[in-house]
Amino acid sequence: MNDFIRPQPGILEIALYEGGKATVAGVANVLKLSSNENPFGPSDKAKEAFVRSVHQLHRYPSTDHLALRSAIADVHRLDAGRVICGVGSDEIIHMLCQAYAGPGDEVVFTEHGFLMYRISTMAAGAVPVEVCERERTTDVDAILKACTRRTKLVFIANPNNPTGTMISAAEVEHLAANLPPQAILVLDGAYAEYVEGFDAGLSLIEARENVVMTRTFSKIYGLGGLRIGWGYGPKHIVDVLNRIRGPFNLSNTQLETAEVAVRDQDYVTRCRADNARMRHWLAEALAEHGVPSDTSLANFILARFASAEEAEACDIFLQSQGLLVRRVASYKLPHCLRITIGDESACRRIAHAIGQFKAQA
Ligand code: PMP
Repeated sequence: MNDFIRPQPGILEIALYEGGKATVAGVANVLKLSSNENPFGPSDKAKEAFVRSVHQLHRYPSTDHLALRSAIADVHRLDAGRVICGVGSDEIIHMLCQAYAGPGDEVVFTEHGFLMYRISTMAAGAVPVEVCERERTTDVDAILKACTRRTKLVFIANPNNPTGTMISAAEVEHLAANLPPQAILVLDGAYAEYVEGFDAGLSLIEARENVVMTRTFSKIYGLGGLRIGWGYGPKHIVDVLNRIRGPFNLSNTQLETAEVAVRDQDYVTRCRADNARMRHWLAEALAEHGVPSDTSLANFILARFASAEEAEACDIFLQSQGLLVRRVASYKLPHCLRITIGDESACRRIAHAIGQFKAQA
């Protein structure tokens, strides 16, 4: 530690984000079910756009992202002028904290909420405020009770990661309508595409001045490796975020691939249906082995074990079989393992392995 050169207050208290495991020492051919990735990858059309983008590598990318924003707006019937694109939805979350929260301000999120809410809050020098959930589900009344004059942002993911649970549109509306006037509600829709017929709260954004949404190409679009996300909100907020956004934050490759991906909604529909079918199958198979889970609306399930020790032992057993799932002790769920819904053979493999683990226990 240098005595003179110090970062801003709060930065050294940030715990490093740990991504899902991708390798196990000594085990070849691992099956990665630890990062909620689409097992089928991106659509063929998106892959072709990625390859085509090689011809533009010498050109600086667009700074206003007009083509991608227009594609997103067409598909979701939005105002392209109020769409903002970022390096994953992580960047939109980060920009919101940087723009709206500073020292003395509070940012509210739930106890099993996405870890980046805390990291981006602390990076901005603001105070993270964690609120209890009810049975691993967002508790709107508890959030409202936690709000003060200093609350600037409230983050909820719907469906939530790592619980997979959701709250109703009426509850989200109640939350937005009862926040203090200086607070923005951020609806994190990273998993929204997995919910059939769900508008993810976009109509609420149209109706109000204090709600913003974040979305991603990392999940159902199968583009986690490329890092593209977007946000939608009232003009006054999107204008603020554009002032701090790096002018070349997205490359030609990111922009062109995402534009084609979002227009390929047939692919999204197919992935949603397959995920729902295998999620149902896996939840039932695990329940038969004595491992319950809450009804998940996302592309993973949160498997509950009798204790933190049992969850850890199961994780170690799965790793020995080359199966990688996510330990979620850092999400205050030490007795659980989060398992991404893979393709059919992956789901059968993980269910079989968990059955073997339970049988030997
Ligand atoms: N929100 C939630 C709830 C997530 O689970 C994730 C990814 N794990 C993100 C946001 C960020 O995703 P990305 O930056 O890849 O868009």
